[in-house]
Amino acid sequence: MRGKRLIFHNWLAENGTGRRGYDAGDGRRSEDENRRLQHIRDAVRRAVDCLPLEYRELVVRYHFMGESYQDIAARSGRKSYKLAAMHRRAFRRLRKLLALLVVEQYSISPPSTGCCPVCTSPRRRDADRLIAQRDPAATWRPIIAALRRRFEIKVRSPQVLIGHEKYHMSQKGDHSGK
Ligand SMILES: [Zn+2]
Repeated sequence: MRGKRLIFHNWLAENGTGRRGYDAGDGRRSEDENRRLQHIRDAVRRAVDCLPLEYRELVVRYHFMGESYQDIAARSGRKSYKLAAMHRRAFRRLRKLLALLVVEQYSISPPSTGCCPVCTSPRRRDADRLIAQRDPAATWRPIIAALRRRFEIKVRSPQVLIGHEKYHMSQKGDHSGK
């Protein structure tokens, strides 16, 4: 890991899906590295398996299968705010279950829970989509309001989102992240 930072949500999806290419681009992985990745993936799956059924389903559908939040809400017949609360609880558990692994594997402190309200939200994917669609000429105000209303993400100031967009979102695809 180069930057000593993990976006928990991305990390979870990468390791939970078991899809190859955790370090895509580097085809020549050593035995040791492969074993290490397998160890991480097993631990992630075990942690997810430890969740109560409905939490597990939510995490698997949203993060591993890429289903939309609306779909899950419709299918489960749950009110969306209940789903959101469940999602937060599921994440809190996963962070705890995986904290030791993260420390041991990356020698960094466990995923922070207090830094960026967007990165730490279980709805991060939807939030990023919303942020990416923003009209760059407009103010952040409507985005801040929408994040709160739709995803229960409380952002105190536009600076938080400016920083998030600049430093946290660039890693996902080409956002011409400079
Ligand atoms: Zn962020």
